[in-house]
Amino acid sequence: MIEHNRDVVVIIDEAYIDFSGKTALHLAESYDNVLIVQTFSKSRSLAGMRIGYAMGNAELIKAMDDVRFSFNSYPMTRLSVAIGRAAIEDSGYYKETAQKIIATREWTKKELARLGFSFCDSETNFIFATHNSVEACYIFKKLKEKHIFVRHFNSPRIDNYLRISIGTQDEMKYFISELEKILLK
Ligand SMILES: *Cc1c(COP(=O)(O)O)cnc(C)c1O
Repeated sequence: MIEHNRDVVVIIDEAYIDFSGKTALHLAESYDNVLIVQTFSKSRSLAGMRIGYAMGNAELIKAMDDVRFSFNSYPMTRLSVAIGRAAIEDSGYYKETAQKIIATREWTKKELARLGFSFCDSETNFIFATHNSVEACYIFKKLKEKHIFVRHFNSPRIDNYLRISIGTQDEMKYFISELEKILLK
């Protein structure tokens, strides 16, 4: 893709990078038309602060820097800069929480497979799963009645899937036990 599009910028969105660890940063080093973008909204728990950054060729970064105060609908405030900085300085804490989410995700995958779900292997903080006999829409409604909220999209090709965000280990244990009850009925 990058080689066939040398005349345009190819953006690689690494929003979930800390839940997988496989960055494409080396591509930004080898190609001057690649930008890698990452956000503080996911593994750094700062959704809503609108903190993100791009990495790439110096010329490309300079071009963005030159226009950022005239084009950017989400300029960073002093407060968001201070918060972003504090988050970077506390990277040990974030590594630990990301590891917890990964461990819980792996546990949840095993449980979902045991209950008859299938899914693409997830390296994010959610699992997009479908059940082999029970409709997603039914499971979604039953979970909602129990105040357990997963996402269901009424769109072609994905309407039999549930998007399940990974919570704490206790939350996921509760989710799995309630899910099991719904499926047994
Ligand atoms: C969350 C997310 C982002 C970035 O979110 P911001 O809050 O705008 O930083 C970008 N791409 C994907 C795929 C995401 O899930």
